[in-house]
Amino acid sequence: MSESFDLIVIGAGPGGYVAAIRAAQLGLKTAVIEREAKLGGTCLRVGCIPSKALLESSELYEQSREHFAERGIVVNDVGINLPQMMEHKDGVVAQLDGGIQGLLKKNRVARYFGHGRMLGGGQVEVTEDGGNVVSLSAKSILIATGSVSSSFPGMEPDGDRIGTSTEALSWPEVPEHLVVIGAGVIGLELGTVWRRLGSKVTVLEYLPRILPGTDSQVAKEAQKILQKQGMNFQLGTRVKNVSANELGCTIEIEDQDSITCDRVLIAVGRRPCTDNLGLDAAGVATDKRGFIQVNSAYGTTAPGVYAIGDVIGGAMLAHKAEEEGIAFAEKLATGTGHINYGTIPGVIYTAPEIASVGETEDALKERGHKIKVGRFSFAANGRARAAGHMEGFVKIIADAETDRILGVHIIGAHAGELIAEAAVAMEFGASAEDLARCCHAHPTLAEAVKEAAMAVDRRAIHS
Ligand code: FAD
Ligand code: NAD
Repeated sequence: MSESFDLIVIGAGPGGYVAAIRAAQLGLKTAVIEREAKLGGTCLRVGCIPSKALLESSELYEQSREHFAERGIVVNDVGINLPQMMEHKDGVVAQLDGGIQGLLKKNRVARYFGHGRMLGGGQVEVTEDGGNVVSLSAKSILIATGSVSSSFPGMEPDGDRIGTSTEALSWPEVPEHLVVIGAGVIGLELGTVWRRLGSKVTVLEYLPRILPGTDSQVAKEAQKILQKQGMNFQLGTRVKNVSANELGCTIEIEDQDSITCDRVLIAVGRRPCTDNLGLDAAGVATDKRGFIQVNSAYGTTAPGVYAIGDVIGGAMLAHKAEEEGIAFAEKLATGTGHINYGTIPGVIYTAPEIASVGETEDALKERGHKIKVGRFSFAANGRARAAGHMEGFVKIIADAETDRILGVHIIGAHAGELIAEAAVAMEFGASAEDLARCCHAHPTLAEAVKEAAMAVDRRAIHS
């Protein structure tokens, strides 16, 4: 006899485990199937959290080497203990995994450890590590199996010198020369980590710009700053082939000289993870790129089967997956649940950080939307000067007629924290004037957000 549930969730990433907890809170008998020992998915195991741990540690190292002296702090013999840095990162992951294990227990969510596969008709089998198969059934099944790194023919990871983000989070030594393929979020974040730790970093990008999709003014500023920090960019570059032997790697590029280096990081995007999931048996359709197709209640083409998170595409972000998990569970249990896809922020954790919410100036102009733009530089903000973080700016885009905020883009220290105010303002349908009239504490970086809102109406005080 198979154990039966109201809801079985396949995948315990930020989409899956959050959906399971919310469903259990709402009274559904819920199970989660995860094939990795650790919960938390890509985000916790090999994504958001370990990358941020290394970004923080490498930033501290760079600060202490390059910037403490100018503040009158004398630190001699600053060095790196890479195994210790990795141990700290792994410790953070282990603690948070323990936290999620505890949350599932607290909410009485059953946890199955193995590969989940749908058989159709609400049946799911779990293949455990040793090959033992457990049969389960449920009224509803949620696919939250996430994504994995993409690659191209001629550009495949070799598990050693040619790696994806997963390997680049655990390299045992600092590569002398690292070549990153792809100037997207992963390329710039992990490229920054290894540059700070001492690598020469060359980023190869197919397009003529970095960070496609990001406001182009912000991307230009980011490139200027990252180049000043020592990152090298080769844009408009078509990689033909990547190969490696025990001495190093060779990258062949169309119409250009080959490059040799110690390690290659392939960061050219991610694809949905649906391997051996039983999509056909269950009757679940995907689009041409393999993303599972869903309706507004996250229902797939198979009745009773739903999907959320990276596996359905859109912004591949942990908080987007979490919001979908909650909206899905609430819709399933209560009939209502909602997400505003127009106010999902995005943050890139370089130094300075890059954060945005809403539309870009480029997209609005392309659609002929009449807009007003206010900009305020951190160089004119007292707190930024005191902290030594003068780079970057806040840019607020509002509708020319109604003044409603349509997009906010920030490049600067703590931009990832500052963007939350903009997201809340937009969620409440704020105008730029609303934001401009809110009192912001002095001296804070957030004052730059207020000044940018004032600049929309050409009345910034400090510029
Ligand atoms: P995942 O987190 O991918 O979880 C899916 C889970 O399903 C996995 O644990 C997998 O093992 C499991 N699974 C798959 N198939 C099966 C099966 N058949 N049976 C059982 N289990 C299965 N996003 C941010 O918002 N902020 C960041 O700072 C950030 N940094 C990132 C850094 C890196 C290096 C990477 C790679 C990604 C980063 N992301 C970040 C993206 C973020 O990790 C993803 O958007 C998020 O994890 C997606 O959540 P998910 O629940 O949809 O899927
Ligand atoms: P991405 O889509 O951000 O960037 C991929 C880059 O590779 C693009 O600039 C693209 O033009 C380029 N590219 C594609 N094919 C190429 C080729 N053949 N040669 C050279 N360049 C090529 O993807 P990513 O950086 O791999 O990240 C994957 C996902 O993970 C993203 O969707 C992102 O949302 C998520 N992520 C988020 C964060 C964060 O929120 N801070 C951090 C890391 C990852």
